[in-house]
Amino acid sequence: MTKSLTNSERDQILQDLTFDQQSYLMNILKRGKKTAFANVIAQSKGRMIPNGATDEEIGMLLDDWILDDYLDAGAVSEDLKCECGRALRYQYIVRHVKTGEVRRFGINHFEEHTGLPGTIVKEVVQGFTKIDYELDELLLKMQNGSPTYDIPEGLKLPTDIEEPLSLQLPLLDRQEKRLNSLIRSYREEKEALQRGSNTLEALDIPTQKKEDLKPKETLTQDELQGSFDLFAEEAQEPLQEITSEKPKETYFVGDLSFPTQKAIDGYIQQGTESALMICELLIKEGKVQDKRYSTKKPKIYYAVCTYLDSYVASGSMSVEPLGREDRIYRLKRGR
Ligand SMILES: [Zn+2]
Repeated sequence: MTKSLTNSERDQILQDLTFDQQSYLMNILKRGKKTAFANVIAQSKGRMIPNGATDEEIGMLLDDWILDDYLDAGAVSEDLKCECGRALRYQYIVRHVKTGEVRRFGINHFEEHTGLPGTIVKEVVQGFTKIDYELDELLLKMQNGSPTYDIPEGLKLPTDIEEPLSLQLPLLDRQEKRLNSLIRSYREEKEALQRGSNTLEALDIPTQKKEDLKPKETLTQDELQGSFDLFAEEAQEPLQEITSEKPKETYFVGDLSFPTQKAIDGYIQQGTESALMICELLIKEGKVQDKRYSTKKPKIYYAVCTYLDSYVASGSMSVEPLGREDRIYRLKRGR
């Protein structure tokens, strides 16, 4: 757990940053809080919101309260007021997607002014605190001198890692972990490619066949195993649960109807990259049934990944696995 900063320590470090660095950090702070808020609301409805979900995606999944904005006046100010008239430094603005109703408040009057249940408010506040800690983690790294990263030439980085680096900002520990695994698989792929081309030259096989030898980021056994692990978990539930034909509820790619495949193609075209988000959208829009493992992960998840993996195999997409939580699929542009 990172040490957290006091408001004045935080302000001090922020002051020394460039305008671009400051606005980038403010943006990811907002984004993080929006996702944290949406996550709790989604979970209370048995849904999941993947990390890094965009405003549009959150708006598509949820039709009640969403966090619209988070403002920092720099000091307690008459410009930012709570619903009850109290002057604030930090103001949260929530909006009801369906009714359009807007509420503005300070964190202490969250429950009073939104009417959301206390348990939900408590979880949201915990989520916000975690995001604040992440900002502090970055600022402390700034203060102690940013680490440098050895990134191989030719490795295309995801935006959320590329952006801070291009602004000379450090990465969060969790981003560093991802970066390291991206670098590792990039090097492995390059080596395998090298080996493959040597073999091909020796055998005198046409070079376009090289593609077949390239190791693909296909759904790993471990991730597929998820369904079995989860099945084991479910075995602790009432007996009738076990006797109902569980394994049959696992979807494989053949189970995706043509309209479902079309819908997935549509989400990809509009820029959705998270396999989990695609599943949630399919469920929300009634394209597939809302069946889930006890972890809340949609059962359609594995079939969706397998379907998208076929694009990866054909070379039109790349994939970045985020542990067992999610997989990020990106269209390769300009081909
Ligand atoms: Zn108030």
